[in-house]
Amino acid sequence: MDPTGDPIVVVGAGMAGGRTFDVLRRKSRSPVVLIGEEKVPPYTRPDLSKRYLQDGDEHRVLFHPVEHYESERTEFRAGRRAIGLDPDRHRVLLDDGSDQRYSTLVVATGGAPRRLPVPGADLPGVHYLRTLDDARALRAGLVPGQRLTVVGAGLVGLEIAAVAREAGLDVVVVDVCDLPFPLLGAELGERILASHRSRGVEFRMGTSVREFRGTERVREAVLSDGSPVATDIVVVGIGIVPGTDWLSSTLELDPPTGTVTVDSFGRTSASAVYAVGDATSWTHPHFGRIHTEHEAVAQNHGMRVAGNLVGVGKPFSMVPYAWSDQYHHRLRTVGLASTATSDRQVTVGGSDGRMATLFVRGPELVGAGILDWPAFTARLTRAMQAEAPLRLTSELIDELTAD
Ligand SMILES: Cc1cc2nc3c(=O)[nH]c(=O)nc-3n(C[C@H](O)[C@H](O)[C@H](O)COP(=O)(O)OP(=O)(O)OC[C@H]3O[C@@H](n4cnc5c(N)ncnc54)[C@H](O)[C@@H]3O)c2cc1C
Repeated sequence: MDPTGDPIVVVGAGMAGGRTFDVLRRKSRSPVVLIGEEKVPPYTRPDLSKRYLQDGDEHRVLFHPVEHYESERTEFRAGRRAIGLDPDRHRVLLDDGSDQRYSTLVVATGGAPRRLPVPGADLPGVHYLRTLDDARALRAGLVPGQRLTVVGAGLVGLEIAAVAREAGLDVVVVDVCDLPFPLLGAELGERILASHRSRGVEFRMGTSVREFRGTERVREAVLSDGSPVATDIVVVGIGIVPGTDWLSSTLELDPPTGTVTVDSFGRTSASAVYAVGDATSWTHPHFGRIHTEHEAVAQNHGMRVAGNLVGVGKPFSMVPYAWSDQYHHRLRTVGLASTATSDRQVTVGGSDGRMATLFVRGPELVGAGILDWPAFTARLTRAMQAEAPLRLTSELIDELTAD
């Protein structure tokens, strides 16, 4: 326990912060304070674009009931935003004018939706999706028979498109790229696009929204080629900006992403300050500096860093893993699955729809994007966790595809 008696403070009560808290609650003898801008305790964010939109079951998405966070030794300060950090005096400044002292600080502030900077984007009926509040509002607007425009054919946008289409809405997806997930290679994007199209989703690819029009609420999206798309509701999913604005003058940030730079133990540039999850660029023992926006990584990052704070002492070395469910499809990525971090791609697969695009750098298999092939995903994850660098050989391909 810290001699000052000051608590370990976790800022950000999302997926990484929630799991950090859980480990500290069980294993630390210090008091623990969890501070979160949202009014609800941590929950499973990926559900918001999937099952929650269908069934609206809020209890199922919570990690734990709120009582879990309150005890003699633990405190949950909900609805409170951190606005500054004083690392010399070990204080976090909060939006109610108070400050919170800490012995150790864990930053877990994730990210917020990137806004679409066009006229009319603040009209009622234009939604973003990051929080449970956002999901409540979006769900209420998904009325069968109405017309939904999805801006952004990324994972979140296409998951919403799938749920909305199955619920009986007419769905148009708009994206500046020619295919969904361009970094995963053309084959995967084409397969996903075809699946949505076969269910009646309309795509306006290679274009963007110039403005939204409407008086009381949004009624039309005007595309960059001037064509109008009549709409009753819009959801914008064009990525996130990191929740690090309150740290820019005190911690070292990674220039391209604006996330907090941490080493493989989650340590930042300030003493006694750690960071985990989407808000970080972390040092992978094999891949070097990477930034991920995946729930499994965020949760494991939080658990590992918390474990280290109570004495385990192991670097965070998880092979990155992301997933997306759309209709019956299971899209997975393992490792560095990107055309930007590989120099060639090899696609393998069968006629039954299963496929994987392998990302290769020099002789090394650095990652894969995998569609509807759970056994491949499991084998590759095991192989990459066991061996680094993992050489791409014909024997390895035979092993991975052996079913
Ligand atoms: C709709 C949706 C679907 C997704 N689906 C998938 C999926 O299928 N698979 C997958 O791998 N990943 C998915 N993700 C991504 C995944 O949810 C994130 O990677 C994960 O939530 C990151 O965890 P985090 O704790 O770093 O950030 P978050 O979960 O975003 O938590 C950050 C928390 O910090 C709070 N906060 C921010 N700033 C402050 C501040 N200054 N003071 C106090 N609190 C603050 C926020 O309000 C938030 O509660 C999805 C994300 C969304 C939005």
